[in-house]
Formats: sequence, structure tokens, C-alpha cells
Amino acid sequence: MPCLFCSIIAGDIPCYKIYEDEHVFAFLDIGPVSEGHTLVIPKTHAENLQAGSAFDAERLLSAVHQIAPAIMQAVGADGYNLGMNHGECAGQDVMHTHFHIMPRKKDAPRVFTKTHPSKEELVATAEKIREIIQ
Ligand code: 5GP
Ligand code: ZN
Repeated sequence: MPCLFCSIIAGDIPCYKIYEDEHVFAFLDIGPVSEGHTLVIPKTHAENLQAGSAFDAERLLSAVHQIAPAIMQAVGADGYNLGMNHGECAGQDVMHTHFHIMPRKKDAPRVFTKTHPSKEELVATAEKIREIIQ
């Protein structure tokens, strides 16, 4: 079966894209723990960070550095958690390297839980973020 995130990069599966460059692709998580929850992935498939190149690891973090402020501004967050589940034992479900950027508001509960925004809400969030990034 083709990799889910490679299919998203190829445009075979739709997504709420917020950023793309030569090496990195970023889109909203469909089960966000907070508004603006974004997945940042390398365009070159690797099962996890260690299986990929150091170059891609640098590009990923550089993209996080670039887009996280726009995400925070778009959703009115005060900070964010940056996460990566590395390996099945760590809770990795999709075997294509990805960072989670999870925006946080000051008074939000400490423990994240998945939310279920509508398609329209996800479209609106992605548009707000893209407007700031561009
Ligand atoms: P992991 O547990 O592997 O770190 O996280 C995988 C993430 O991918 C989950 O947060 C899940 O909500 C998200 N996800 C799973 N399938 C899809 C999909 O088809 N599209 C998008 N945008 N996100 C997905
Ligand atoms: Zn892949």
C-alpha cells in the first residue's frame, strides 16, 4: 500500500496544505488537538527521522522555525508544543517522518485531546495560516 503522506504530497489524497518548499510539505492534521495543529514532513520518504538524512532533519526544523509563528498568529496562540512520535512504541501511526506543531493558548488544559473540526473549519484555518505565510 502506498504511504499515506507520500500520497498527500503527490496530491492523490487531498489535504489542507499550509506550506511547501523544495524539501518540505506542511498541512493540517485531520484530528487536531488544537486549532492549527500542523504536520511538517519531508518530501523524501523516510519511515522516521533517523531513517532519513541529516539534511532533511535540518530542513524540517528550519520549516518549523519559519511557519510556527504564522500558525500561532493565525489562531491566536501564545505558544506551541513541537512533537514527534518516533517508532510504534512511541505512538507513531503514520510511518513517514513528521513533526507535530500543536498551538497552545495560555488557559488551555495541559492535556491535549483530539478535536473534530468540520471541513469548513479546517479550510478556514488553513486559509488564515497561508495568508500570513505568504
Ligand atoms: P502519529 O501518531 O503517527 O505521530 O501521527 C499521525 C497523525 O496523522 C495523527 O495526528 C492523525 O490525526 C494524522 N492523520 C492520519 N491520517 C491523516 C490524513 O489522512 N490526513 C491528515 N491531514 N492527517 C492524518
Ligand atoms: Zn511516505
